[in-house]
Amino acid sequence: KKGYEIIRNPLLNKGMAFTLGERLQLGIHGLLPPCFVSQDVQLLRVLKNYDMKKDDLDRYVFLMGLQDRNEKLFYRVIMSNVERFMPIIYTPTVGLACQLYGHIFRRPRGLFITIHDRGHIAAILKNWPEINVRVVCVTDGERILGLGDLGCHGMGIPVGKLALYTACGGVPPQQCLPVTLDVGTDNEVRKLVQLILEQTKYGMDCLIQFEDFANINAFRMLNKYRNKFCTFNDDIQGTAAVAVAGLLAALRITKTKMCDHTIVFQGAGEAAMGIAELVTMAMEKEGLPKEEGLKKIWMVDSKGLIVKGRDQLTHEKERFAHEHQQMKKLEDVVRELKPTVIIGVAAVSRAFTEQIIRDMASFNERPIIFALSNPTSKAECTAEQCYTLTEGRAIFASGSPFDPVTLPDGRTFYPGQGNNSYIFPGVGLGVIACGLQNITEEVFLTAAEALANLVTDKDLAEGRLFPPLSSIRNTSLKLAAKIMEFAFEHNVASLRSEPSDKEAHVRSLAYSTDYDEFVVDSYRWPEDCMTVQ
Ligand code: NAP
Ligand code: MN
Repeated sequence: KKGYEIIRNPLLNKGMAFTLGERLQLGIHGLLPPCFVSQDVQLLRVLKNYDMKKDDLDRYVFLMGLQDRNEKLFYRVIMSNVERFMPIIYTPTVGLACQLYGHIFRRPRGLFITIHDRGHIAAILKNWPEINVRVVCVTDGERILGLGDLGCHGMGIPVGKLALYTACGGVPPQQCLPVTLDVGTDNEVRKLVQLILEQTKYGMDCLIQFEDFANINAFRMLNKYRNKFCTFNDDIQGTAAVAVAGLLAALRITKTKMCDHTIVFQGAGEAAMGIAELVTMAMEKEGLPKEEGLKKIWMVDSKGLIVKGRDQLTHEKERFAHEHQQMKKLEDVVRELKPTVIIGVAAVSRAFTEQIIRDMASFNERPIIFALSNPTSKAECTAEQCYTLTEGRAIFASGSPFDPVTLPDGRTFYPGQGNNSYIFPGVGLGVIACGLQNITEEVFLTAAEALANLVTDKDLAEGRLFPPLSSIRNTSLKLAAKIMEFAFEHNVASLRSEPSDKEAHVRSLAYSTDYDEFVVDSYRWPEDCMTVQ
């Protein structure tokens, strides 16, 4: 490429890190300030700049600007402190960024496909500059976090998710394609998705992640495509895996089995159904028949407790409808059923009231309370409420991050962030690393178990149900290796030769933030062969 284009291309640009030799050879000398800076120093400069930003939205805009200028430096920054930057490029700030997308829009990123493009989808896909796409994250923007329908402003979500594929899973950014569909009706959404899946030229082992589709479409498309394409729905299955990982870790604290528990879900949508399904699979593994497992799970939706005979229950809800009188309020349901676990996934802010939390603490020595709704404003309770009202006995996880809580008696708890980001980058990397084409529920249970096993006793003692976010890169690589093991064990990997060291194999695929060198390969021939004749 011509030099000037290189400094304008975020994939190749390295700013003031271009050496004099490179500047001369690329024809960019004079176009940059006349001094040379290493990536380490660039990192420090970015951090200093970052510190001057006034609020999280400014920080988001700043980081996206960096991603558009110098992609390697962007990932170097994110990976230097994932715990710090994840809440900006992902939940909760990304939610605000989507809501204000029109105001903060600078440069486009990802593919926008609308219903008017029917018949021309292949041409649009061809406009994407990268050829070797391995992961597509697609949304129709209809259920962005718990914030509702944001239409094409939802693009922030697939962009943010894929940034985590790279930062946490090491998938090279050129292999990731964010897609947002802009469609009118539910029917049109499904038709468009069908067209896209049929016309995608990336092949059967390109992973397609469905993200933040509204409920009915999400279930229909998952059922329709799960056996035909390499696809999963993150809101149903990714959520399930991270929540079950949290529960498996919690069992190590309570010294109980999954089938000893009674779970009440606040919400009966994608997340609740996904988690419930995986919980019953975990119970089955302990020897409890599926039917019995289902009975230990209760769900509350917008109309109250789901019971047998209630009106208009969908097929999914029907499975969790048990014989019981109708009840409207979650507080009454909790008092009546005395669950050991409550999981909030209804995007109803503060649904876990003081009474509910106190009640949970009165019937359980160690109540398990997961407030998973995103973003933070939608959480069912705060970490502080949960630990304070249970005198520190609660086993707590939330979907968006909360700061550590110190009780008056001096004990400090570190709330776990039960977020899909622990799952999809690792699972995604594992899937593409071995060419797994059909992502079954067992894959997610495998991921959940692997994640729970990475939690140390020290983590548990501090209240953490997940490995620290600071080690998420390592966690994701370990998960990916487990997924590969699973695939080869079950003969479903399409990678021909089985690598003996799977972790080394996934590590070898991981993206490096080190800059490319641009100096042309310069050498001489023997003098006499070079003589001009
Ligand atoms: P969804 O499919 O739309 O489901 C929402 C459910 O909440 C529905 O069953 C709905 O009832 C129920 N609901 C609404 N208002 C209610 C109320 N007042 N009382 C009781 N239930 C009520 O959405 P989803 O995909 O499951 O997501 C829900 C939330 O979970 C979102 O905030 C999302 O951000 C969060 N989430 C978190 C993670 C994570 O990683 N932590 C992952 C996925 C999702 P009806 O069925 O009657 O409409
Ligand atoms: Mn989502």
